[in-house]
Amino acid sequence: MYDVVIIGAGASGLVSAIVSARRGNKVLILEKNSTIGKKLLATGNGRCNITNIRPIPDRFYSQNRKFIISVLNEFNYQSIKQFFKSIGLELIEAKEGRVFPMSLQASSVVDILGYECKQLGVKILCETEVKDITYDKSIYSIKHTKGKSTSKNIIIATGHKSAPQLGGVDDGVSFAKKFGHKRVDSFPSLVQLTSPMPNLKALAGVRVDSKVTLYKKDKKIEKRGDILFTSYGISGLAILDISRFVLEELFTSSVVKLEIDLIPKMSYKQLIAIMRKSIRKKSLKPIDIWLQGFINKKIIPFILKPLKYEKFVEKDIQIKDIERIAYRIKSFEFIVDGSRGYKGCEVATGGVDTRDINPKTMESKIQKGLYLTGEVLDVDADRGGFNLHFAWVSGIRAGNSV
Ligand SMILES: Cc1cc2nc3c(=O)[nH]c(=O)nc-3n(C[C@H](O)[C@H](O)[C@H](O)COP(=O)(O)OP(=O)(O)OC[C@H]3O[C@@H](n4cnc5c(N)ncnc54)[C@H](O)[C@@H]3O)c2cc1C
Repeated sequence: MYDVVIIGAGASGLVSAIVSARRGNKVLILEKNSTIGKKLLATGNGRCNITNIRPIPDRFYSQNRKFIISVLNEFNYQSIKQFFKSIGLELIEAKEGRVFPMSLQASSVVDILGYECKQLGVKILCETEVKDITYDKSIYSIKHTKGKSTSKNIIIATGHKSAPQLGGVDDGVSFAKKFGHKRVDSFPSLVQLTSPMPNLKALAGVRVDSKVTLYKKDKKIEKRGDILFTSYGISGLAILDISRFVLEELFTSSVVKLEIDLIPKMSYKQLIAIMRKSIRKKSLKPIDIWLQGFINKKIIPFILKPLKYEKFVEKDIQIKDIERIAYRIKSFEFIVDGSRGYKGCEVATGGVDTRDINPKTMESKIQKGLYLTGEVLDVDADRGGFNLHFAWVSGIRAGNSV
């Protein structure tokens, strides 16, 4: 009989195991993958963007904002840094408040968490998939592919549907539902977007520093960063960042228009001024070659064709033409109609409704001794270390409470 059985050896499960074992509990982790921390290894492109120095509630999303505020309260960057220091993992700060392990290797995070569990006597069974949980006379029975385990408490740290190739499933939501918990619908976030636009292959491979804008009914959302045109649609950091808001719009509309500023470092007026200055009055240079002085040539047909300027030569270009070209460059329209789904995303939105979870302990308000941590809960966040921040904080809270 264990004091606590943790389902899932991912980010929040490993941390809750360490914190709980430090308090003298007998801990078992059950993991369906053949190794621990498989998703963690893929984080931050193998470098693990472990947290952020400014984990403010505005960077997190849930139907229950009060829960986020309450969970994050008292757990700032310093407390996470302190936890990792206590297991021998030093952190370094990078651009935009991102924080990485000093080794810049996600594998060192997994190795050190795994070693600490071992040191503390936490038993970890891999290739062990939990199939069912029952509760009788204050004892949980956990049926899994290697038999059955019993425990006084359970932590569901199973993550969610994101990246099924790395183990992402929504088993945890099903287990919680069995005990009366409600599900908040899910969709992928931090994901590449698909487009119905024709001739996308001609744009594929073009990467640009850009500003992407989505106009919603009541507000506009802007994200700055790389975009990458692909044969299926569009990817890149600015797209991952805006994807959550686009997919929300796609619930009520079959397509969504993004406005992309292809030269965000320059204002519309500045662009017009340099284009104007570059025109040579007698030049017979074709307009598509002239425009290569400013933007990637693969984008040029998408600018010129709608304006019907393909036949122009440099000397024909008038100020009104420059204005129209500059406008299309600064407000390039890109239509999207969906995403690459859970397989392509970094995080799944939705999950177990947090209204029935105590934000201080992560214990269910419905079922005694049942705790939930990490992505299985209806909490997701922006890119930048925020999703892992929530996994660590919720894992520490549960480990401290069991
Ligand atoms: C490619 C990629 C890159 C990312 N990069 C970052 C980043 O740099 N920074 C950041 O903050 N976030 C990042 N994320 C998000 C982050 O990885 C997750 O938010 C975080 O891992 C969630 O932690 P968790 O403990 O809830 O679940 P997970 O880490 O997903 O762990 C859940 C574990 O439970 C196991 N499990 C599920 N069901 C069962 C079952 N029935 N029986 C037994 N075991 C089960 C799974 O196999 C899995 O190992 C990234 C995600 C992806 C996919």
